[in-house]
Amino acid sequence: MINLCDFTLEELTEYFKNLGEASFRAKQVFSFIAKGCESIDDLTCLSKALREKLKCECEIFLPKVERKLVSKIDGTIKYLLTLSDGNIIETVAMKYHHGISVCVSSQVGCAMGCTFCASTLGGRVRNLTPGEITGQIIRVGKDLGERVSNIVVMGIGEPFDNYENLIKFLKNINNPEGVNLGYRHITVSTCGIVPKIIDFANQGMSVNLAVSLHAPTDEYRKAIMPIAKKYSLNELLDACRYYFNKTGRRITYEYALIEGKNSSDECARLLIELFKNDNCHINLIPVNDVKERGNVRVSKKRVEEFKNMLTRSHVTATVRRELGSDISASCGQLRNSAIEQ
Ligand code: SF4
Repeated sequence: MINLCDFTLEELTEYFKNLGEASFRAKQVFSFIAKGCESIDDLTCLSKALREKLKCECEIFLPKVERKLVSKIDGTIKYLLTLSDGNIIETVAMKYHHGISVCVSSQVGCAMGCTFCASTLGGRVRNLTPGEITGQIIRVGKDLGERVSNIVVMGIGEPFDNYENLIKFLKNINNPEGVNLGYRHITVSTCGIVPKIIDFANQGMSVNLAVSLHAPTDEYRKAIMPIAKKYSLNELLDACRYYFNKTGRRITYEYALIEGKNSSDECARLLIELFKNDNCHINLIPVNDVKERGNVRVSKKRVEEFKNMLTRSHVTATVRRELGSDISASCGQLRNSAIEQ
């Protein structure tokens, strides 16, 4: 079955054209889907005859809510969503005064093997389709009855390992006929697939880019992130500077502090050397314990010391606010526990 959510507006227009229908039909359907329509029968903008025709080969599928956990501490909501083939993904919604921010998954599992991450423990099962990524936004918006105002592609999966579908998803979300969310309200996070960062810079989208850095040298980085064996830190930073120059969007470098691995004074000094001349932002993350990985969380005091070393040297750094700490730990752990059950 074709999931109509997977089409870009251009593809949908082409599809309707091939059915002998006017192009405005595609716009109507695209807009109905963005508003949360979940079945061909609900496409009341179309004639009954056309709906029956569509039903022979199409469906509208949005991920279904399998479980929903709401944090008593800060209201963060974690969704376990089921896809049409039974696979499970995680989506997180955070409420802010300016609206809802949603963190979406881009793959079922992940092939990248970062040692501090639970999402990669079972490897990559498959890529999400554009409609399955968009569907997470639409599902959360429907469930909460509010418009999603920010999106971060930082859930399960490496978005640039599913590049084509990521680009389609971004175009669909941005399309004024659809969800109509500006690119500046979207952040894509990558572990550092260099050629894709360059290509992404050339897309002209001005999406915010977050890069999982997590170490200040190749040697340190290779010990915790297999992608570092493929692309050196120099290559990665050159690509990031290219992205900044091309889009004007300041890069955020994610740095998960892990006890005994990358949280020493020496690491902070090396980080300062790397970024003292860059207009960028370091986001320090006190890493969650992942029991399967043997990672130990650094103390709050150490996080503050590390941050202060950076900021005293004029490298902009903040500590990521911990959200939903009572409803499960790091990304991927909720899905893993559901699979284990
Ligand atoms: S941190 Fe991101 S890229 Fe690395 S294994 Fe986890 S999901 Fe994959």
